[in-house]
Amino acid sequence: MKIEGNTNVRSQRFGAGSVDGLGNELGRFVVTTMEIPWRVTKDRLGGSPAAVITVESMELDVIERQITAAPDCDTVVGIGGGQAIDLAKYLAWKRGIRLVSIPTVLSVDAFVTPAAGVRRKHQVEYLGNSSPDPLVIDFDLLRTAPADLNVAGVGDLLSIHTATFDWVLAEQRGKSEYAFSQQDVDAARSILNDVMAMASDIRDCTDAGLQAIVHGYMRINTICLPAGHYRVEEGSEHYLFYELEERLQRPFIHGHIVGLGIYLLSRLQQNEPERVTAFMDEVGLKYHPADMAIHREELAASLAALREFVRQRPQLWYTVINERVTSTRWIDAALAGLHF
Ligand SMILES: [Zn+2]
Repeated sequence: MKIEGNTNVRSQRFGAGSVDGLGNELGRFVVTTMEIPWRVTKDRLGGSPAAVITVESMELDVIERQITAAPDCDTVVGIGGGQAIDLAKYLAWKRGIRLVSIPTVLSVDAFVTPAAGVRRKHQVEYLGNSSPDPLVIDFDLLRTAPADLNVAGVGDLLSIHTATFDWVLAEQRGKSEYAFSQQDVDAARSILNDVMAMASDIRDCTDAGLQAIVHGYMRINTICLPAGHYRVEEGSEHYLFYELEERLQRPFIHGHIVGLGIYLLSRLQQNEPERVTAFMDEVGLKYHPADMAIHREELAASLAALREFVRQRPQLWYTVINERVTSTRWIDAALAGLHF
């Protein structure tokens, strides 16, 4: 598929075995990675890195120290999940050098987004600007990761279902924070439809299924980078996640918790919940509270508090949460189909 527009991918190298020997084609390079991704990649990459930098923490002072200690190089190769890739993005941006991104799992979209997610005193900040050259999508390498983590990558694409509903709703109420674009909504929904048509391939992590997730992320960039915001893929389903994260003070697999948000907020929206739930069930996305050790009382309390949570955060966009009441009765009904 040829994707028109700014995908934030400068060049690409897709296919089973595409990582093999890549290191021999690079000049002087350093690798940022973690233990498991490096173990499954190092013998296939070839070449000899000037340094292998392992993620210690995403805290900015730790990262700055690691970058200062890194040797001179003209390329940085990020190998792993979100953190290893984000460390590479930050280093590439800081030094103005070439970035090669080799995701070993598709659970987050860090390998296509321009900014690096780092933490300053535990708060997430997005810094810098970088594009992979190339983005290496090696299907065999991705399949060394647990299948459910690759499947989790659909979470931030499925969120188009609830997020576009929220944006349309905001526009109808005269509350949209950005110039509304029906064209962007339609384009995002066509990405969603294309992803949903690939359910069995995504479930089985076939080449085509993994590629569908990567292409979905790249196409989202062609909408969101020119617009300057991610309104078509982020809305009320993410706000439930923010509330739960703050309430429970622990991390989640992003696609799983976003899946739970899509399940519940599509019901609050009365927005084809059966369709999106059937897809999540078919691909085996682990969106049930039991998969994340979330107790029924915790989730019920979170839903009851959600409206007040967003009211206290004016930086959050207008969504269904602002105007529909999550009564005890609604919560009971909405939770009835979930596993605890
Ligand atoms: Zn997300």
